[in-house]
Amino acid sequence: MKNFEKISKIAASFNAKMVVVSKMQTNDKIELIFSKGQRIFAENKPQELVKKYNQLSNKIEWHLIGHLQKNKVKFLTPFVHMIQSVDSFELASVIHKHVSQNNRKIDILLQIKLSDEETKHGFIPHILMDSLQSDPWQELTSLRICGVMGIGSLNSDINAKRREFKNLFNYFNDIKLNYFKEADFFKEISMGMSDDYTIALEEGSTMIRIGSAVFSDL
Ligand SMILES: *Cc1c(COP(=O)(O)O)cnc(C)c1O
Repeated sequence: MKNFEKISKIAASFNAKMVVVSKMQTNDKIELIFSKGQRIFAENKPQELVKKYNQLSNKIEWHLIGHLQKNKVKFLTPFVHMIQSVDSFELASVIHKHVSQNNRKIDILLQIKLSDEETKHGFIPHILMDSLQSDPWQELTSLRICGVMGIGSLNSDINAKRREFKNLFNYFNDIKLNYFKEADFFKEISMGMSDDYTIALEEGSTMIRIGSAVFSDL
C-alpha cells in the first residue's frame, strides 16, 4: 500500500492523474485500492474489463488501454469512460456508432506508436496527421477526443525513453495547435508506467498508468 500512496502523491505533485492498471489482479486487491480513494482503473482486454465492471463498484471510472477489435466495441460502449487505445479512424467511427446508440458520449485518446517494436499498436505520427486532415473526425460527435497515449519501448534505456516521451509531448502540441486549438478538453498526454513514470511526468505526462508497482506490496 505504501507504493500506491507514494505514487499517488508524486502524480498529484505534477498535477497528473494516476490510472491504476488492474489487469490480472484479484477483486480483493482492487477493492483495497478503491477503499483508499482511487477511482480510475484500467484493463487492457475488453472481456476482462466487462467482467470487472460487472463485479466491482459502479463508482469506478473504467479505461481501456489495450488493442480493441471492432467487433468488441459494442460490449464496452454502454459503460466505458475512456478508450485510450484508439489507433485508427475506422475504430473511432465504430465506437461513435455504438456510443450514439447508447445515447452517451465517451472520451478517447489517440494512441501513437513511439517505437519500432512490432508488438505496439498505434498511429504512426505522420499517418495520424494525414488522417486528421482528410478523414471526417468532426462527424464523430459522440466522442470527445481528449489527447494522446503512448507506450515507451520495453527494453530501451532511460535516455531512449525520455526521447520517446519528449516526442509524444511534441506530437501532442502539434496536434493541439493544428486541430484542437479551441477544444479545452484536448489536454491529456497518457504516458508513463511502473518503470518509467517519473521520467514521463518530467516530460509532461498528465496521466500515468501504473500496474505492478501499485500491486506488488499489497
Ligand atoms: C500493463 C500496462 C500498463 C501498466 O504496466 P506496469 O508496468 O505494470 O505499471 C500500462 N499501460 C499499458 C498499455 C499496459 O498494458
